[in-house]
Amino acid sequence: MANMSLKKNEMPVQNSEIRSKNFGEVALGYTEEQAIDEAKRCLQCKNKPCTKGCPVQIDIPAFIAEVAEGNFEEAYKIITKSSSLPAVCGRVCPQETQCEAKCVRGIKGEPVAIGRLERYVADRHNAKEQAEVEKPVANGHKVAVIGSGPSGLACAGDLAKKGYDVTIFEALHIAGGVLSYGIPEFRLPKSIVQKEIDGLKELGVKIETNTVVGKTVSVDELMDEYGFESVFIGSGAGLPRFMNIKGENLNGVYSANEFLTRINLMKAYKSDSSTPVQTGKRAVIVGGGNVAMDAARCARRMGAEVYIVYRRTENELPARAEEIEHAKEEGIIFKFLTNPVEIKADEKGWVKSIVCQEQRLSEPDASGRARPVPVPDAFFEIEADSVIMSIGTSPNPLIKSTTEGLETQKWGGIIADEKGLTSKDGVYAGGDAVTGAATVILAMGAGKTSAQAIDEYIQNK
Ligand code: FAD
Ligand code: SF4
Ligand code: SF4
Repeated sequence: MANMSLKKNEMPVQNSEIRSKNFGEVALGYTEEQAIDEAKRCLQCKNKPCTKGCPVQIDIPAFIAEVAEGNFEEAYKIITKSSSLPAVCGRVCPQETQCEAKCVRGIKGEPVAIGRLERYVADRHNAKEQAEVEKPVANGHKVAVIGSGPSGLACAGDLAKKGYDVTIFEALHIAGGVLSYGIPEFRLPKSIVQKEIDGLKELGVKIETNTVVGKTVSVDELMDEYGFESVFIGSGAGLPRFMNIKGENLNGVYSANEFLTRINLMKAYKSDSSTPVQTGKRAVIVGGGNVAMDAARCARRMGAEVYIVYRRTENELPARAEEIEHAKEEGIIFKFLTNPVEIKADEKGWVKSIVCQEQRLSEPDASGRARPVPVPDAFFEIEADSVIMSIGTSPNPLIKSTTEGLETQKWGGIIADEKGLTSKDGVYAGGDAVTGAATVILAMGAGKTSAQAIDEYIQNK
């Protein structure tokens, strides 16, 4: 019988007092009973509005119908026809602006919890003993993938399944891109990311870590000297932006990317880690996106009192609603209509305080959001031991500057058509390297589209 409850089945979570002191996953996942009950809220709409809201067009009503019947493996097969990272996307997709935003149950109540159901199905599948992967028959063609984030992993996986000899070149010593170095363990356990990477290796994908393309080897060398017939660039947008205010180079000031890399990739929160990270008694995070929430919640778990300063109001915060809610529950203090103007040093050159200026909102700017305007003479100081800048990132110019004929936008994004083809023959690009900072599902979708285009390019050569 249909479940006509106006509310989603709640997700069990770790108690906020306990979780703000550990790095274990916050959301614990549905039980089988909760998943089936939630699936019964779906009305099986014929025109599938939810599917239209999913960037990779998962057949959502079809997989949910299988969940409602307890056919979880069937549900998994339907999801993975369109998505190669369901355990990841079920956790981190901004469902409230994508699939769930279009769900008709959301008109008079809460939408069906599509992301939670996707996560349940994927986790249940992953917990089972996996059948040995059948190695695809090699087709004798070599493709290079630069970067091992969701775009690179998806591209490499689809090409490997078609028999290509694929090598991923990754600058860092661990694969996974933002999934490994950015999104914290408490939102996305690293064992899930590792499982995806192991799956690719079983398909025959080679991963060369510690290889910075543009320094260790160039795109042109990969194609002209090493025999790669096509290259996919999925190098992300990992170059942090700063405010260019006085004191930004002091000890104790981090970019959010550096701070999160130290914590997630280098495990700086563990007592036996050789990588230091210093938040001190009070950390101030500048910014209001998902990255700012992740940095703030990590700093909290390192034992600091944490402030988030954001120049607009709560209504304009770009972070996901769930992340803001979780951050508040964990005791993070928000200072809205506040913009830093200077970071002050103590006598040893470490952060002592951050000087801020009050803001008021004016008419909308180019982004459509109300523009913050400084209030004259309204300055105040927050004492701080560390400051974490989280005001955005852009693509690193290294690959562009070392690749003959590769064109980019002024802000650094690689120019590519809808299939990912760049200005250079045989070179494709996708994910954040093309769009600027976006989402996991969009990056994954771009990787899959380019894999298809690369296959056509090589087969028609
Ligand atoms: P990335 O994941 O950035 O991977 C690029 C890889 O390329 C990296 O491993 C990098 O080391 C490597 N690389 C770069 N240059 C080179 C080079 N020259 N040679 C070799 N390798 C290179 N999205 C969501 O949907 N939901 C979320 O909740 C969410 N939270 C986020 C939290 C944080 C902290 C961050 C930073 C991002 C978050 N995002 C989230 C955004 C999302 O993670 C990205 O949009 C997505 O990872 C982009 O994938 P990508 O494959 O394009 O690049
Ligand atoms: Fe929704 Fe993301 Fe799953 Fe698509 S991939 S159905 S947007 S959670
Ligand atoms: Fe089910 Fe909502 Fe999709 Fe309708 S819109 S099929 S109710 S998930």
